[in-house]
Amino acid sequence: MGLSSAALEGGCSRAGCREGATWRIDWRNPKIHSEDRVKTWLACDEHVEYLRDFLASRSFPVRVAAFEATDAAPAAPLGRDARSGGEGA
Ligand SMILES: [Zn+2]
Repeated sequence: MGLSSAALEGGCSRAGCREGATWRIDWRNPKIHSEDRVKTWLACDEHVEYLRDFLASRSFPVRVAAFEATDAAPAAPLGRDARSGGEGA
């Protein structure tokens, strides 16, 4: 557990790091994730390369983009369920 989109709280995703994130790393594991299932890690300046390389070395599709803490609710491709649902929320 742990690293998921629910962890988008503005802190670096590197274990043990408490720096604020300035980068977001969107990635997917093609073996277990479907095309529309993208996970997001956040990273500080120091760890963005580490985390990106960690994923890239596994041949995961990875995309790095600037992250602003004030923009803590990235547009997720999940809108189709968010409104109509409500159950379990
Ligand atoms: Zn960090």
